[in-house]
Amino acid sequence: MWEDRRSWLRLINHPTCAYISPGLRITERLPAIYFQFQFKNVEYSSGRNKTFLCYIVEVQGKESRSFQGYLEDEHAAAHAEDAFFSTILPTCEGALRYSVTWYVSSSPCVACADRISEALRKNKNLRLSILVGRLFMWEEPEIQAALKKMKAAGCKLNIMRPQDFAYVWKNFVEQEEGEGEEAKGFVPWEDIQENFQYYEEKLAEVLH
Ligand SMILES: [Zn+2]
Repeated sequence: MWEDRRSWLRLINHPTCAYISPGLRITERLPAIYFQFQFKNVEYSSGRNKTFLCYIVEVQGKESRSFQGYLEDEHAAAHAEDAFFSTILPTCEGALRYSVTWYVSSSPCVACADRISEALRKNKNLRLSILVGRLFMWEEPEIQAALKKMKAAGCKLNIMRPQDFAYVWKNFVEQEEGEGEEAKGFVPWEDIQENFQYYEEKLAEVLH
């Protein structure tokens, strides 16, 4: 059952299945319960051992197009970041410019950070901006080195601000039907701003 659902997600997240237009169009939404748990920018992320990645890809060339969707880790297989480069954007055509934004529940592990750095070094026409809810194991020297390498390769890395969570809520999360506009709005958790500032400080220390 779980297996089936993931194959289904993979299928609908594939860009060939996505509606492609100059404007953004929603192709698939994240269940609200996942967002509320996985993206929460708590300081201690116990139980949050999966990575959720919402992406927006804008391709500029003769004709511009964009698509978006989300990915999640597949246990014992690819991490979401890795899956992005193998399934969503396996190649960048030389004549086009790619501008990619990710909203990720937490910052990447060493292997994924290296994959990101490699993709940016290989594709000079690729811009990648990553906004993360939390920092993953940021006290580890290997992680710090990998994040610095990402920055050196041109990756913009930032912590999600309260308005970024609201943006993801509005654009990537399933909205319940039959409720008033107000009920659909993003409700920030109590310490969202404080936690954002905490992680922002830590990130500045890591990337200084
Ligand atoms: Zn990873």
